[in-house]
Amino acid sequence: MNSAELVAWYERERRDLPWRDPSVSAWQILVSEFMLQQTPVVRVLPRWLEWVDRWPTPSATAAASPADILRAWGKLGYPRRAKRLHECAAVIATEHGDVVPDDVQTLLTLPGVGSYTARAIACFAYGQWVPVVDTNVRRVVARAVQGLADAGAPSATRDEAAVAALLPNDESTPTFSAALMELGAVVCTARSPRCGICPLSSCAWRSAGFPAGEAVPKRVQKYAGTDRQVRGRLLDVLRDSTTPVQRNALDVVWLTDPAQRDRALDSLLVDGLVEQTEDGRFALCGEGDDARGACGA
Ligand code: SF4
Repeated sequence: MNSAELVAWYERERRDLPWRDPSVSAWQILVSEFMLQQTPVVRVLPRWLEWVDRWPTPSATAAASPADILRAWGKLGYPRRAKRLHECAAVIATEHGDVVPDDVQTLLTLPGVGSYTARAIACFAYGQWVPVVDTNVRRVVARAVQGLADAGAPSATRDEAAVAALLPNDESTPTFSAALMELGAVVCTARSPRCGICPLSSCAWRSAGFPAGEAVPKRVQKYAGTDRQVRGRLLDVLRDSTTPVQRNALDVVWLTDPAQRDRALDSLLVDGLVEQTEDGRFALCGEGDDARGACGA
């Protein structure tokens, strides 16, 4: 793969995303990576801007209440990420002098930081030479380098080695990594790659005549009717109230399947996102009396 032509394309065409601005801190990049883990860019954008304006540092984030963190997370989904981000802020504030660590091994010890996120922070915040591998990158490498329609089952060791083999050995590494991700996100997409505008002059899959892959196309994950939707509705009620609410205020948001609603509420309690007061009402973590001691579990 010709890194120069990919980097040149990226410099010309990249989306103007605020967390890519050179003035953005490592902490703010970390926040964007948490939010982007399972939520599309367009929904993350306004939340991220509000978040870093309100809580620009790990210590500022750690000082916020768990309930305010959940409210600010809003409808980004998978709210356990918000809790992990809050915990991560506390660890960085207390154990790392309010500075995001710059090496992958230490980053991996932080709450909510997995292999991809650790490498993304080391690379994008600190310019380190480390392979950053997400789904988009795996797909681009499979097609452009290996001549395959799809990337097959993930393997951290193999995937990172394949990307490491492509990384330029100079200061353009972070830009190259961002460009690879960008290409997969906007040009070499899973369902309809836009080969006509692809900046890569050489692509093994294109040269081979686009042989079909073996992967069964993934079914689009539905949201309607899932426990995730029920959890979201229950959290909406609790986010809108600064005082504990009665059980019936929650029951009314999901009448079609009471067992599913109970299961969803239970899971919120187990996740420590919600707590129950002694008199049986419900509140966001930290806004009841934590009678069951579940909050923060
Ligand atoms: S030529 Fe097509 S398949 Fe190959 S990398 Fe570009 S967009 Fe992807």
